[in-house]
Amino acid sequence: MARHAVTLLPGDGVGPEICDATLRVLEATGVEFDWDVQPAGEGAMQEFGTPLPPPVLESIRRTGVALKGPITTPVGTGFRSVNVALRQELDLYALVRPVKAYRGARNLRDDLDFVIVRENTEDIYAGIEFEQGTPDCDRLLAEISELAHKKIRPDSGLSIKPISISGSDRVVQFAFDYARRNGRRLVTAVHKANIMKHTDGLFLATARKVAERNPDIQFNDRIVDNMCMQLVLRPYEYDVLCCPNLYGDIISDLGAGMIGGLGLAPGANIGASAAVFEATHGSAPKYAGQNRVNPMAVMLSAVLMLRHLEETEAADAMESAIALVIKEGKALTYDMKADRSDPTAVGTSQVADAVIAKIRVGAR
Ligand code: NAD
Repeated sequence: MARHAVTLLPGDGVGPEICDATLRVLEATGVEFDWDVQPAGEGAMQEFGTPLPPPVLESIRRTGVALKGPITTPVGTGFRSVNVALRQELDLYALVRPVKAYRGARNLRDDLDFVIVRENTEDIYAGIEFEQGTPDCDRLLAEISELAHKKIRPDSGLSIKPISISGSDRVVQFAFDYARRNGRRLVTAVHKANIMKHTDGLFLATARKVAERNPDIQFNDRIVDNMCMQLVLRPYEYDVLCCPNLYGDIISDLGAGMIGGLGLAPGANIGASAAVFEATHGSAPKYAGQNRVNPMAVMLSAVLMLRHLEETEAADAMESAIALVIKEGKALTYDMKADRSDPTAVGTSQVADAVIAKIRVGAR
């Protein structure tokens, strides 16, 4: 079996403890890794004066794969989010978030199994904003009012929503490729093209063209508000949802809620030459160092990483072991209990012990 060089960013807050738990489980799968451990976030800030020192990006560019713990975004210090910076610097344009119900979790229903592919680089999240009252904002307001022949209130702020043909084409193509690789049958484009014709409309028109190039996978589209209702009422009719950035962000949290919360919601940020695997949740600083939070979202992100590395057998073994621990309902953290103060809840490292024990007995 080949060894895999992988960058490890333990992150900060609860990051190091949930990454440690995940590493122990990965070790139990028998897959061999050469970890390049890189500090990012608060620890790096203290040591190097920046939360994202250059060796972090160099390492991921070299290995092409990273497993990442959450990283706190410092408020009011002027530092941009390390998480956003990583996605932009490495052009990780597709964010994959599976929504899969494991029996025994606090699921909305037990038959949930769809995947959100979120565009990760443009849309209203491009970071192009103009603060109300500044000269630049006033200038732009006047210009747009003239060009659009519409009066915008002069005390407005502005956020720009760019959506491109090239950015849409590559993420929708990714969704089709993902569907094909993972035995899924349908891609649904999510949009609000009836209102935003030149951004969401462009996304939808591009998605339709990409669908023509991929006739082996079915394609349809849904307006985002209807999509939310459909996911609650008839989720089994959907398979891979491809969304512009904002809708993908919101639907991902809807999905996380449907499968029992953030503690079980994994993610993969994927680009042409690098992939970063991380949980949907943040650094939960109030729980840092307490051995309390759920490591399963990072563990399930590591399962996605194993699949990306084509370690299918190990991925299946690890996912089955996690599913069995959930089903048995004994070694679960507080967030998976009906009552969050349930005294039978276990800690982060005990969840890892339970998953490792299942892997050792060959859980299926
Ligand atoms: P959060 O996800 O860190 O925590 C919100 C709450 O969710 C927690 O207080 C906790 O009750 C619960 N929670 C989160 N993860 C859990 C787990 N594994 N097990 C059990 N319960 C869990 O969100 P926040 O408080 O909004 O953000 C904290 C920091 O994390 C901020 O600085 C934010 O910018 C950052 N953040 C980072 C990432 C990332 O690294 N990709 C993502 C989101 C937020």
